[in-house]
Amino acid sequence: METVVIGAGWAGLGVSYELARRGVHHIVFERARIGETWRTQRWDTFRLNTTTADTVMPGERYGGPDPDGALTHFEFIGLLEEYARRHGLPVEEGRAVTGLSKGDDGGFVVEAGGATVRVRNVVIASGSLNHPLPRPAWSASLPLPQIDACDYRSADGLPAGTVLVVGSGQSGAQIAYDLARAGRPVYLSTGKVGRLIRRYRGKDTLRWLDDSGFMDVSRAELLAAAPDGRLPGRGVIGATRTLSLQFLSAEGVTLAGRLTGLSGSRLLTFRDDVVDNIRLGNEASARVKGWIDAYIERSGIDAPPAEDDPAETVAPRLPNPPILALDVSNLGCIIWCTGFRGNYSYVDIAGVLDAQGQPIHVDGVGKVPGMYFAGLDFGTTRKSGTIRAVSEESARFAALIAERLVS
Ligand SMILES: Cc1cc2nc3c(=O)[nH]c(=O)nc-3n(C[C@H](O)[C@H](O)[C@H](O)COP(=O)(O)OP(=O)(O)OC[C@H]3O[C@@H](n4cnc5c(N)ncnc54)[C@H](O)[C@@H]3O)c2cc1C
Repeated sequence: METVVIGAGWAGLGVSYELARRGVHHIVFERARIGETWRTQRWDTFRLNTTTADTVMPGERYGGPDPDGALTHFEFIGLLEEYARRHGLPVEEGRAVTGLSKGDDGGFVVEAGGATVRVRNVVIASGSLNHPLPRPAWSASLPLPQIDACDYRSADGLPAGTVLVVGSGQSGAQIAYDLARAGRPVYLSTGKVGRLIRRYRGKDTLRWLDDSGFMDVSRAELLAAAPDGRLPGRGVIGATRTLSLQFLSAEGVTLAGRLTGLSGSRLLTFRDDVVDNIRLGNEASARVKGWIDAYIERSGIDAPPAEDDPAETVAPRLPNPPILALDVSNLGCIIWCTGFRGNYSYVDIAGVLDAQGQPIHVDGVGKVPGMYFAGLDFGTTRKSGTIRAVSEESARFAALIAERLVS
C-alpha cells in the first residue's frame, strides 16, 4: 500500500479517481458511508448552491437538460456513490481513521477500524466544514433546546414555539427561510455577511464569476488584501433564488442584529446593527455585479442589460423599535448557524495543525512530506472547498504523489 485517502466525500473520491488513473495503489477509508456529510448534515429541503453543470466529478461532464439546476443532497449522494462504483474506487466504508502518526521510515502509520496501515503518502479529505464551531460558553446555561445547523432537518422536527436562528450566513439564511415558509415564527440574528444574487445579466452568477477569473483569486492574494489578515467569509447565495435580508424580512423572518451575549440568566442581547448588515449585503452584491459588468465590457460579451432582482429591491420589514433583547422564555429553541471547521483530532503529528487544530499548509500541501489536505475551504483559491475545484485539485495532488513514488 502506497497511499491512504481519509474520507469519501467529493474531495477524497476525486483524489482516488486520479490516483487510480495513474496506477497508484491506494485505499480510501471512510468512517461511515460515501457522502456521509451530505447524508447526516443537511436539512430536508436542502439543495446544492453549485449548479448541476458544475456539480461534476473528475473525468465527467454534465450532459443533462438542466445545467443551471440545483441538485438535492440525496441526488448528490447518488452521484458520488455511482461515481465510486463506476470507476471501481477502493473505498472501505465503516472504517474510521482514529490515529495518524509518523512511522520510523519517514512514512505514515494509519489506524483505521482496528487495522494498522503503513504508507508513504496520506491524503486527508475528512472535511474542513463538517464540525460546528463551538457555541459561546454561556449558552450552556440556557433553559431551552439548542441545536447546530448540521442537526436541523425541518420545522416539524423542532420543539414548538418561536425559533431563534443565530447567524445569517449561507446556512442561517436558508434555514430561516425554510422555517418561515413552514409558517414558523422565526427571529434571525444577523451579521456582516456579503451576498450574491443568483442570476445576473442572463447567466448564473457563479458561472460569471468562474468565467471572469473571480473564483481563481489565490488564497495568498485574498489574505494579503484582508485588512485583518483573515480570509473573507463567503457571501450568501441562495440555491434556487437570491436570499437577501430584506427578502427574508418580507417573507416573515424577524431580523435582529448581532447576538452579543446573555444578560442575567434569560435575556439574550443584540446589537442595533440590522440596517448596517442589510447595507453591507447590498454593497457586497453591488461589488460583485460591478466585477461582472467590467468583465462583460472588457471581453466584448453581448450580454443582456442588468435587471433588478426583486429580492434585492423589496423594502425590508424591520421591527420597530429594533430588537435589542429577547427573553428566552419566549423562544422554543435556538439553531446555531455560526460556522464550521474540520475535525482533525485523529492527527498525532507535531507541527502540522495550527492552534485551532486546523491544517497548516500551502495550497493543501502539509508541513510533512507526503501529507496532503484535500477539499480545504479556500485551500488554494476562492473556488477551493466547493466542488467546482475538485478536478484541478485532485489531479494536482495525484500528480505530486505519483512523482514522489518514482523519486
Ligand atoms: C451547509 C453546507 C452546505 C454546503 N453546500 C455546498 C454546495 O452546495 N456546493 C459546494 O460545492 N460546497 C458546499 N459546501 C461546502 C462543503 O463543505 C463541501 O462542498 C464538501 O462537503 C466538502 O467535501 P469534502 O469531501 O472535503 O468533505 P465532506 O463532504 O465533509 O467529506 C468528508 C468525509 O470524510 C469522512 N471522515 C471524516 N472523518 C473521518 C475519519 N476520521 N476517518 C474516515 N473518514 C472520515 C466523513 O464521514 C465524510 O464522508 C457546503 C457546506 C456546508 C457546511
